[in-house]
Amino acid sequence: MAQANISVTESQFRCPICLEVLNDPVSIPCGHTYCMRCINKYWDQVDATSQFSCPQCRDAFSPRPVLRRNTVPPEQHC
Ligand SMILES: [Zn+2]
Ligand SMILES: [Zn+2]
Repeated sequence: MAQANISVTESQFRCPICLEVLNDPVSIPCGHTYCMRCINKYWDQVDATSQFSCPQCRDAFSPRPVLRRNTVPPEQHC
């Protein structure tokens, strides 16, 4: 039985580079999210002397930001 398995939540988190659902999502300092693989590949093509920029908002970062996994923090609100 084949059924489309894309939830509304998932479809909101597509990677602007590969246009797939985010795989290993990481946030960069501007707040945009990409696949770890995609943003690494994107920045690997950047000249070492230029800044690393967000493909979406063009915010530039230097040095290359450390990518951290996008983890959802446990809800602490009352
Ligand atoms: Zn991607
Ligand atoms: Zn951005």
